[in-house]
This record gives sequence, structure tokens and C-alpha cells, in this order.
Amino acid sequence: MRTAYISHTECRNHDTGPGHPEEPRRLTAIEDRLLVTGLTEVLRHIDAPEVTREQLLRVHTAGYLDSLESLLPKSGLAHLDPDTVLCPKAARRAAGAVVTAVDRILGGELDSAFCGVRPPGHHAERNRGTGFCLYNNIAVGVAHALEAHGLGRVAVVDFDVHHCNGTEDIFKDDGRVLVCSTFQHPFYPNTPLLPDAPNRVSVPLDARAKSTEFRAAITQRWMPALRAFDPEMIFISAGFDAHQDDFMSQVCLTDADYRWVTEQIVAVAEESASGRIISALEGGYELNSLARCAESHLRVLMGLHA
Ligand SMILES: [Zn+2]
Repeated sequence: MRTAYISHTECRNHDTGPGHPEEPRRLTAIEDRLLVTGLTEVLRHIDAPEVTREQLLRVHTAGYLDSLESLLPKSGLAHLDPDTVLCPKAARRAAGAVVTAVDRILGGELDSAFCGVRPPGHHAERNRGTGFCLYNNIAVGVAHALEAHGLGRVAVVDFDVHHCNGTEDIFKDDGRVLVCSTFQHPFYPNTPLLPDAPNRVSVPLDARAKSTEFRAAITQRWMPALRAFDPEMIFISAGFDAHQDDFMSQVCLTDADYRWVTEQIVAVAEESASGRIISALEGGYELNSLARCAESHLRVLMGLHA
């Protein structure tokens, strides 16, 4: 498989202030792990371009984009809310990473890509950013695949421990996009549970959930929906914060669960989407488990095995 790691120095440098869990060391931990395991040498490395306003306007309102610009400080940090730090440079690279992944995969240059980016994106709604997220990186990429490349069926799968309220909000009325998620419930961002729809499979997990419940959700709920939908491309909102070592949540997944779920997604992608997968980092705050799980996730995307 021709797999790329797409990132940018701006994403690594994005300063969220002291004590913030969404911190620069998250990307350093992943990149150090790829280096010591030798994966760095077999991955293609691509610098993320900046997303354009036109690309952002496919999923965000002009009013929201303008309000972010108006809140920017001349210097220092500014907050959209107590958790969410404004970082236009990093955010433009994070969304741009997913856009260039789409162009390069549909252009035949790559089979798959992992966007090692910050800030994350899946909490960003059409007209509201929150939960560390400014632009919905995955949604920007999906919209690019639909509008610039003419795809007709795209799936988003999200195994972050937090509900992808933003991604669901953006695509709730778009039958071209199937959104499948698992998430701890009740839990941040405390959005109301919506019933399943032809383009939505939301699977809440109890705070005590472990591998068994997670794997049942994927096998019994995601997989039949994904196979019936027959996507032409699959996007992954890859959050590793449901890991048992992560302090952000109570759900207790293991390294093996992240490898397994990636294998399930790759299997569907090979059946229906010519193996085309784009994954983008969302959560994952305990640096050791984050680095290990991102490595094994990438290894499966690359067609390598443990
Ligand atoms: Zn999360």
C-alpha cells in the first residue's frame, strides 16, 4: 500500500497553554514512535497545505468563519471557549491535510493516508466550534471528495470516545454521507442521542464498556450498514481516547481493539472503495497509549501486520 503521513509544523507547534491535554507532545509522541519502529522510513511524508476559504465554506457558515477571524488576538492565546484555543494557522493546515489526502488518493498517487494533525475537528459544527475543534477536518475532506471529485457515497467512521456531534450536524441531511460512530454516553459533548437514520449509525457505549461491547457495536451495527452503503471512500475520525490508559474517559479499550477495528474498516474499504482510506487524528491524550495505537493503526492501513 502507498500510505502517507500528512502533517505540518504548525500543527506540532500549536500552543494551547499550560496544562491543556490537547498539547504539542501528542504529535511528538506519535512521530517519535514512527521513527523508532522504522515506519517513518516506509511512509511517504507530505506537508499539509492550508485549506482555502472556499473549501471551508462547504461545511461551515461564512458567519462562523468570519467570527473566528474577528476573535483573533494580535498576540498571545485567545479562547473560543474555556477548552478551545484559537489557532488559525494550525487549523488551516489540519483541514488542508485531509483535503490534500483526498486529491492525492483520488489522483492515484496514494492508497491511504493518516493525517497527524492538531487541532482535532469532529466537534466543530456548521456554525460553532467547541471541544478543542475549530474546523471539522474530516468533514472538509468529505465535502471536497463529494464536490470537487464527484464521489456519490462516502462513509465516515468515528471511534473517538466522544460523540462526533459536529460531523453528524454537518451531514445529517446529506444522503451521500454515512456517519458511523461509537462514543461513551452520557458524556461530553452531551448532545442528545438521535435515532439511527439511513445515513447515521450512532452507538452509545456505557462508561463501563470494554472490548466486548465495543467489538459487538462494530460487528453488529457498523459493519452491516457500511456494507449496505457500499462507500467509494472511507474517512476515519481516529480518536484513541477510549483506551484504558487514557485519563479522559472511562471506556476501557486496549491496543488490540484499535488494531482490530482498523482491520475491520480496511476490509470494507477493500471490498467497496478500492482500499481508499483517509484517517485523521482526533483525541487521545495519554501519550504512550496514543503513540502505540496510532502506530498499529497506521501499520494496518499500510497493509503491514503486527
Ligand atoms: Zn475525544
